[in-house]
Amino acid sequence: MAGAGGDDAGSAHCRSPSRRYSVKGATRQPSDGEAAVSASPPFAFTRARIPQGFPLYKTDASAYYSSMPRCIRKGRASFLPSMQAARVSTNLIFTTPQRALKPSMLDLDKGHLTEEVRHFREQLRRYIDKEVRPQAQQWDEDGLVPDATYRTMGELGFLGLAIPEAFGGSDLDACGTVVFGEELGRSGSGGFAASMSDHADMAAPVIVRAGTEDQKKRFLPDIAAGRRRLGFAVTEPSGGSDLTRMKASAVRQGEHWILNGQKTFITGALSADMFVTIVRTDPGSKGANGFSVFVIERGGPGFSTGRKFEKTGWRAADMSEIFFEDLAVPDANMLGEEGKGFHLLMQGLERERLSFSAQCIGMMERTMELTLDFVKNRAAYGRTLWDLQSIRHELAGYAGELSAAKLLVYHAAAKKNRGESVRLETSMLKAQLPQLLKRMADGCTQMHGATGYMHGTEIERIFRDARPFSLGGGAAAVMLDEVAKLL
Ligand SMILES: Cc1cc2nc3c(=O)[nH]c(=O)nc-3n(C[C@H](O)[C@H](O)[C@H](O)COP(=O)(O)OP(=O)(O)OC[C@H]3O[C@@H](n4cnc5c(N)ncnc54)[C@H](O)[C@@H]3O)c2cc1C
Repeated sequence: MAGAGGDDAGSAHCRSPSRRYSVKGATRQPSDGEAAVSASPPFAFTRARIPQGFPLYKTDASAYYSSMPRCIRKGRASFLPSMQAARVSTNLIFTTPQRALKPSMLDLDKGHLTEEVRHFREQLRRYIDKEVRPQAQQWDEDGLVPDATYRTMGELGFLGLAIPEAFGGSDLDACGTVVFGEELGRSGSGGFAASMSDHADMAAPVIVRAGTEDQKKRFLPDIAAGRRRLGFAVTEPSGGSDLTRMKASAVRQGEHWILNGQKTFITGALSADMFVTIVRTDPGSKGANGFSVFVIERGGPGFSTGRKFEKTGWRAADMSEIFFEDLAVPDANMLGEEGKGFHLLMQGLERERLSFSAQCIGMMERTMELTLDFVKNRAAYGRTLWDLQSIRHELAGYAGELSAAKLLVYHAAAKKNRGESVRLETSMLKAQLPQLLKRMADGCTQMHGATGYMHGTEIERIFRDARPFSLGGGAAAVMLDEVAKLL
């Protein structure tokens, strides 16, 4: 698995192999032509193109916050009447103020991350604060993260974390996966997080693991640069948990494979340019044998999608079915060994579960941030909600649970970087963290009162977006089965 193998055997922390360049002390201002959103080629963030310390994005928190009506800032009046009286848009009122960057509640960066990964976090966080969070509600309503966001994130080097440098990526270690997932989760948009993690950290690593030199050259640079969007199409109507029941199949015909069948609940089905998918290529095989993995490209005869699915949460990520009707896929697009596709996908499970868990951590951190901000400002009984002990205790309890969970995520990443199996840890995390996130999102939405139930507030979106984490990437019950097998 890219960047997660035994590069650093014996290290207690997350370290990557040394680089050909250094980010130390790179605090100079960019020269002409070295803009933050740079021209091609799309090198990784770690190159001198975006030096450490360069204020790529500054938050303009206070200006934005002070533009809100005073009664709302101080929580002195009921929100809805004041909103009507002031005739200000719900977007303004319900958009969370952009605050200056705050360190995480439990800051593990210094002890656990390489300078390179810390730098990656810093830049990604600034980008998400400035460019993603303010647009997240619009994307939720549009049901789509725009292509331009992929391209910008690609150009800034955020989408190549799983891809070797030779193909335009930065090949970060397992802590890179954690930081990427955590910062995506902190965006407060599960749809944005799912779109980006699917593309960069779940589907792309399959090509990295099993692709031939030719396949890597054909696909990876475009993925790292965000020029082409990648989806992961596995689930079928016959069931997502028991994947041995997949029915889509392919038969060889000369230099091609002819695919027939259907995939469903596919994130990005309507927007991705290509997909990593799996079908049965040996009709006589049973169970997990006889499957092969392919990269399929959108379009052409035999490829079609269904209607757009309307979801409760993750609405910024489009979802639909994909149909294969005598779809001809070149043999050159088969990834790995024929008939061993199931095992190929299983090799990526630890990374996927780590990514999902980190996204849950990030979303919980954002939930805490929003809620602390709210209760400390919301007037009640001549004081604020924060002055009520039951409120403080509930939040203090969440802080402890979140911190303990975060430690296990970072521990799992460090262990993975040492080349050890983290199947137990990542299955435990994927089983438990979505439950904790849902509980915390529910409790914190409650603390926001009616405001938290209003469409357009970030906490309302988090409440909806928390739900699918216990489904996507493996249902909670399946994860608990995995844990039980290892006890
Ligand atoms: C928002 C979202 C995005 C998704 N994106 C993608 C994507 O991009 N690509 C893709 O391939 N798939 C995707 N999926 C599908 C997802 O992977 C499946 O929903 C998941 O694997 C569960 O499969 P299922 O929905 O068929 O439920 P089933 O397998 O039918 O299971 C239903 C329920 O039965 C219970 N259950 C299942 N197994 C056990 C067990 N062993 N013990 C006890 N109880 C059990 C669980 O409660 C489970 O939720 C997405 C799903 C969602 C909700």
